[in-house]
Amino acid sequence: MSAGTGTPAGGAGAAGDGTRAVHAGLPEARKHEPPLPGPVFAAHYHLPGDPTGPYTYGRDENPTWDRLEQAVGELEAPPAEGSDGAGGTVVFASGMAAVSAVLFSQLRAGDVAVLPDDGYQALPLLREQLTAYGVEVRTAPTGGDGQLKALDGARLLWLETPSNPVLDVCDVRRLAGEAHARGALVAVDNTLATPLGQRPLALGADFAVASGTKQLTGHGDVLLGYVVCRDPAAAAAVRRWRKIAGAIPGPMEAWLAHRSLATLELRVERQDANALALAHALRERPEIAGLRYPGLPGDPSHRLAARQMRRFGCVVSFTLPSREQAERFLGALRLVHEATSFGGVRSTAERRGRWGGDAVPEGFVRFSAGVENTEDLVGDVLRALDSAAGS
Ligand code: PLP
Repeated sequence: MSAGTGTPAGGAGAAGDGTRAVHAGLPEARKHEPPLPGPVFAAHYHLPGDPTGPYTYGRDENPTWDRLEQAVGELEAPPAEGSDGAGGTVVFASGMAAVSAVLFSQLRAGDVAVLPDDGYQALPLLREQLTAYGVEVRTAPTGGDGQLKALDGARLLWLETPSNPVLDVCDVRRLAGEAHARGALVAVDNTLATPLGQRPLALGADFAVASGTKQLTGHGDVLLGYVVCRDPAAAAAVRRWRKIAGAIPGPMEAWLAHRSLATLELRVERQDANALALAHALRERPEIAGLRYPGLPGDPSHRLAARQMRRFGCVVSFTLPSREQAERFLGALRLVHEATSFGGVRSTAERRGRWGGDAVPEGFVRFSAGVENTEDLVGDVLRALDSAAGS
């Protein structure tokens, strides 16, 4: 073991995802030092004389963030692919802090931004805020290339693929090419895919943005976000926004996130396999409509997803005939917690319509597969469906 990036000798860029995840961002191995140094809790650092970095004040710099940023950058933009994503990575207190950092650091009054109209339910709040600041916001659905009609004169195209909660997919490479040809920047929310499932920068995007609260950290106990930027100047602007907004992750959260990355591939493998097994089982149920999982052959997004994604995620969505039947189903589950969020090691599900923010039917369920044994999980879901149907 040699390299200061924590990558195995011989270059982890060429290594498998599990190898890269377990070594990502670790410091050079030194006698008597831990493999992953503990969180550095510091509001300030000793700083006699001229206030030069690397560590001055706790809102601006922290060595625990640095290691996590190195790790996330290595996963989103592996050096072996000729990218310098690690240098352009900025971690945040939450996914929304990361999303806001890109939008508010890049857009000015008079600019035009194109946002999904079917993405994460806080996007309409951002739309309102951007509009109040004089940014023109146009919207388009994730699937179907409708973004192309909205692109003329745009400064930024925002994509979320797969979209939450309906799991539509868009062609990042094609849309990024069209956006760049018109002078627009492209940001992709990569939350659902994780960096092991999809690499937006390799597909042509300028920013990969995500909530690390979900499958990236995967234990349901940390809020976190990150932005990986292609351009160092854009990364400096995003970092400056973090300083201004103060949307910094706590050192403990950053350290827990880094610790969780070691099992990212294991978790993703089991969770995604569980999601696919569930999708196959749900396909056989007559009471289920609108089943979506990008990894399911026959899903409207499958061909495109198979082209641009390396894994398909842990979320499955489907619709039961009524709100009451969906509530009975959720109540009858024994291994699955009724909760919002997704991506955790414990399966969760919720009736998405209860929030009122998504354009989904009352019986729409967003299901996040955890790492339970597949037979147990599928068995629990089928039993709960039977019980909800009254059979
Ligand atoms: N982006 C997507 C696709 C999400 O699903 C979420 C949260 O669910 C966010 C961003 C916001 O992340 P956070 O809750 O960490 O702020």
